[in-house]
Amino acid sequence: MSSGYRGRFAPSPTGAVHLGTARSALLGWLRARSVGGAFVLRMEDLDAPRVRPGAAARMLEDLRWLGLDWDEGPDVGGPFGPYTQSEKLTRYREVAGRLAREGHTYPCTCSRREIAELASAPHGEDGPIYPGTCRDGPSHPGQPSAARMRMPEPPPAFVDLVAGPSPEGLGRGDFVILRKDGVVAYQLACVVDDHDMGVTEVLRGDDLLASTPRQIALYRALGWTPPAFAHVPLVLGPDGARLAKRHGAIAIAALRDGGWSAEQIVGRLAQGAGLADTDTPRSAASLLQGFDLARLRREPARVEL
Ligand code: GLU
Repeated sequence: MSSGYRGRFAPSPTGAVHLGTARSALLGWLRARSVGGAFVLRMEDLDAPRVRPGAAARMLEDLRWLGLDWDEGPDVGGPFGPYTQSEKLTRYREVAGRLAREGHTYPCTCSRREIAELASAPHGEDGPIYPGTCRDGPSHPGQPSAARMRMPEPPPAFVDLVAGPSPEGLGRGDFVILRKDGVVAYQLACVVDDHDMGVTEVLRGDDLLASTPRQIALYRALGWTPPAFAHVPLVLGPDGARLAKRHGAIAIAALRDGGWSAEQIVGRLAQGAGLADTDTPRSAASLLQGFDLARLRREPARVEL
């Protein structure tokens, strides 16, 4: 029997599944399955220059090899598809049009450089906070424009199921939902999809914490109910920096080719996440019994292989 819970994992097919991606997927899967819910897989492939041919299929293969499965996704279909963002552009543009008509967004002609060069611009968690230059009219009338969302001040606060109450001012500043070149921005596509797919809880890496107030603002503007949010700590390399290719063999496929079993990798990930005392090899399914978000370690895990 389904519990009504609907979780999802939404990777970008920009490379191989590495340990960090695998851990977020594993935790999302454990969360959904442990409460008898559905688990949805969605491919976020809108950032065309970063998308690697064949990466999406290889990601699904790696996640399956680790012992994960999903009820809906690009390869298995489902009632709320398409599950690949590049197949949904008309829908995103339609929602962007509605936001513009209702005055939630405005055309912005500022260039990235202009914004970066505002020496006095205060910086948020992810770059300079947009100072509102085009709020009352484009700074370069007649030039191509992006659609920028009016962010309420203060930004919406929320209580994260893992990270706790959001820090004051998180996500401040008007943000782009449709780029000048017509590319749909992550914030908009993510909200439209989580809404369309009936997602009740978003579990993802805490590098996206600052996106959450922006996404909640979009839900409110659209009159939609936001899901719950659970942001899990990232995986760090042995030097304490965010796990990256330079840390060596972190791709699941490379580990598999090097002789690691899925159970050995899951065992390591479980220990790092605080779900097991030792790194004893174990299956993903063996972690279901007693899985509880409250038991997750809140500090980032370091991996050493
Ligand atoms: N596609 C995003 C990423 O891979 C994740 C988006 C999300 O989980 O909301 O970073």
